[in-house]
Amino acid sequence: MQKNILVTGGAGFIGSHLTDMLLEQGHSVTVIDDLSTGSVKNLSSVRSNPRLNFVVDSIMNVRLMSELIDWCDHVYHFAAAVGVRLILDKPVQTIETNIRGTEIVLSLAAKKQRKVLITSTSEVYGKGAKVPFCEDDDLVLGATIKPRWGYACSKAIDEFLALAYWREHRVPVVIVRLFNTVGPRQTGRYGMVIPRFAEQALKNEDITVYGDGYQTRSFAHVHDVIGALNSLMNTPTAVGQVFNVGNDTELSIMELAQLVKAQTQSQSEIRCIPFEKAYDENFEDLLRRVPSLEKLKRVIDYAPKYSINDIVSQVVDHTRREMESNG
Ligand code: UDP
Repeated sequence: MQKNILVTGGAGFIGSHLTDMLLEQGHSVTVIDDLSTGSVKNLSSVRSNPRLNFVVDSIMNVRLMSELIDWCDHVYHFAAAVGVRLILDKPVQTIETNIRGTEIVLSLAAKKQRKVLITSTSEVYGKGAKVPFCEDDDLVLGATIKPRWGYACSKAIDEFLALAYWREHRVPVVIVRLFNTVGPRQTGRYGMVIPRFAEQALKNEDITVYGDGYQTRSFAHVHDVIGALNSLMNTPTAVGQVFNVGNDTELSIMELAQLVKAQTQSQSEIRCIPFEKAYDENFEDLLRRVPSLEKLKRVIDYAPKYSINDIVSQVVDHTRREMESNG
């Protein structure tokens, strides 16, 4: 059935891919994005679609948000501070956008009883050492002098708030913890490793591995991720619950650097840079981060289709095209 769907942050990396998919499914989509980290370019292939309404504004504009939530059946809430680099550079904006923005979305959704998908992050697991991470594990966050944990806490508050709105006001919410979602359109500007490595390799510059490169991540292709989000939104038993979404194949950052170098046949050197030089002395990286996907697979039919090879090759192609079009 055709629905009216609001995507906050819909000009961003993940939001724009989801917008493409929802339009393809025949829905009407309103995107609200302040273009702080998103880009009009991400929506270029759907801009002329008559079922897309693109609003450049902030989710803090309560009157506007009230109208948009009134109009829609479902809300996918992506608008938030994103990327380790941005989080360190703009800690106030990070905390305020994440907490206040989500509060606005949830309070308006409560008035109209709209269904909301809240995007949280694997960062909330913090330094948890028990791998893989399960949704009901304890959160192990670091000291407040380290701004990274302010981001994790702000997203954890979003989760508490969403669950509270479900319990107290019966707002149908689904919460997802996204694990290193990657793919074409992701920018390296805010720190994300794969687009950064791809650009460095294509320019034959040093590929900068932070730390010793033994830290691992589990990278999921954005198409696998948006498929899962869409299924969760349409699965009644997912309401009021938290789900990990990602890919559970683990890879070290050094292996990733080697893969990008091999796929681009680059002349780049792989160079290790201490964390305190890459960020600052208050930075804390995470050693391992792997999702348990058991809970997700119990509720929806989910099997990631894209391998890390597919991901790197698509990101490299995208980066090459971007570099060509920028001269
Ligand atoms: N990283 C790196 N070089 C870069 C950017 C990131 O080695 O130019 C590392 C980073 O320290 C982390 C991993 O790659 O260990 C993933 O970083 P990203 O910021 O993409 O995601 P997150 O740290 O949030 O998982």
